[in-house]
Amino acid sequence: MNIILLGPPGAGKGTQSAGLVARHGMKQLSTGDMLRAAVKAGTPVGLEAKAVMDRGELVSDDIVSALIDENLDAMAANEGAIFDGYPRTAAQASDLDRILAKHGRSLDHVIELEVNVDALVERITGRFSCANCGALYHDTANPPVKEGVCDVCGSTEFKRRPDDNEETVRTRMEEYRAKTAPILPGYETRGIVTRVDGMAPIDVVAGQIDAILT
Ligand code: AMP
Repeated sequence: MNIILLGPPGAGKGTQSAGLVARHGMKQLSTGDMLRAAVKAGTPVGLEAKAVMDRGELVSDDIVSALIDENLDAMAANEGAIFDGYPRTAAQASDLDRILAKHGRSLDHVIELEVNVDALVERITGRFSCANCGALYHDTANPPVKEGVCDVCGSTEFKRRPDDNEETVRTRMEEYRAKTAPILPGYETRGIVTRVDGMAPIDVVAGQIDAILT
């Protein structure tokens, strides 16, 4: 199974990907996570990407498509893939078709998480993650059960993404509107798009996604 989770920043792609990994043993391929890891490690890709990410703009198609290709190389043929935050442009969408074909895979579903744009800034500026295991939280919508302690690993260290500030979020939304949303009609023509109400509670969205996959 190969699926794309599509939606603007803050739609819940990362949260739903983590659920799919836990429930179905699929692998999450998040170009944002890969780029943040490259920035942290100080690799040439990370050095090139950092300033672009801090501005909320898109990193070059060649860089992110190469990351996806490399990560698929490392996966077993029967392992399901969740593309999270990729593709984000028309060029990446055609790169993905080529890369999938090379790996003997094809797209099964494009799941669009539909959200109310006005709610996104609040969603994004309130989110944080465990510094140890990466579990995702939100100040009001999804806080840890015990304040200050990660539900998953018990760590008391948390972090916030540097690009989760209001100004950068607006640029990221504009990038989505201008460059990412236009790739949907191509997938619609192929009959593989399903829309899910991304404003519903996390477990309700998860149930709707599972229903699509069965
Ligand atoms: P994300 O974690 O998906 O919100 O991505 C964070 C940032 O990484 C984005 O604002 C972009 O700067 C960069 N990025 C992630 N994925 C892509 C992609 N597929 N194409 C271009 N830039 C990306």
